[in-house]
Amino acid sequence: IVHLDKITKRFGSTVAVDKLDMEIMAGEFVTFLGPSGCGKSTTLRMLGGFETPNEGRIILGGTDVTSQPPNRRDVNMVFQDYALFPHMTVGKNVAFGLELKGKTRSEIDKRTDELLEFLQLGGFRDRTPDQLSGGQRQRVALARALAPDPKLLLLDEPLGALDAKLRGQVQVELKDIQRRTGKTFFFVTHDQDEALTMSDRIVVMNAGRVEQDGTPEELYFRPQSRFVAEFIGETN
Ligand code: ATP
Ligand code: MG
Repeated sequence: IVHLDKITKRFGSTVAVDKLDMEIMAGEFVTFLGPSGCGKSTTLRMLGGFETPNEGRIILGGTDVTSQPPNRRDVNMVFQDYALFPHMTVGKNVAFGLELKGKTRSEIDKRTDELLEFLQLGGFRDRTPDQLSGGQRQRVALARALAPDPKLLLLDEPLGALDAKLRGQVQVELKDIQRRTGKTFFFVTHDQDEALTMSDRIVVMNAGRVEQDGTPEELYFRPQSRFVAEFIGETN
């Protein structure tokens, strides 16, 4: 479903992403794991259409979307900083993408209700984001991204602000949503445990390049470099 064809992104003299070449299959839960600054968010932003690579191509479902804007791609993103619309209520934030798609009022209300209920936000529909906790905001961002039912969901550290208990719970729920819907999830984290428990496949990044790409078992038991061993091994 996704082919990143040797994409490079530079910011001045910083090479954020360096000739990254990878594919994601339909229905996979792929996790991008790596230390701060290794290019995870930049890669997701390019896939989502919020940055343009300096070199290389992005192929989505067989179409070259490298220079297409976000709304032309069947992709949605949960941002690391949530990026909720501050002046809109929770309900309006979630409904936003559905309105863009021209759904009817009753379809929009039904879908919004379902998602708010599912993410335990039922009582917060009429609040604005500044009246929510970090974890609640994060769940609104998730609900908003899921609402239009995109084929590919990009999740940039979506669980970072949740407390341990809720985090574990949302991990299970997210994995479950992904299984049930058959959607393709491209999930970013720098948390090894989270990557190991949730993913079908883990891509370890180091300085804008792929260090190793494999199943959680392969990475855990057969790391191919010291970097991967130390990164995954920190959980021991
Ligand atoms: P983190 O885990 O901290 O979120 P990351 O892996 O998501 O890190 P990126 O945000 O992709 O890292 O950043 C990769 C590199 O590109 C970093 O060196 C960062 O400073 C740089 N960078 C990212 N965005 C910009 C920008 N808009 N302007 C200049 N440099 C940038
Ligand atoms: Mg990031």
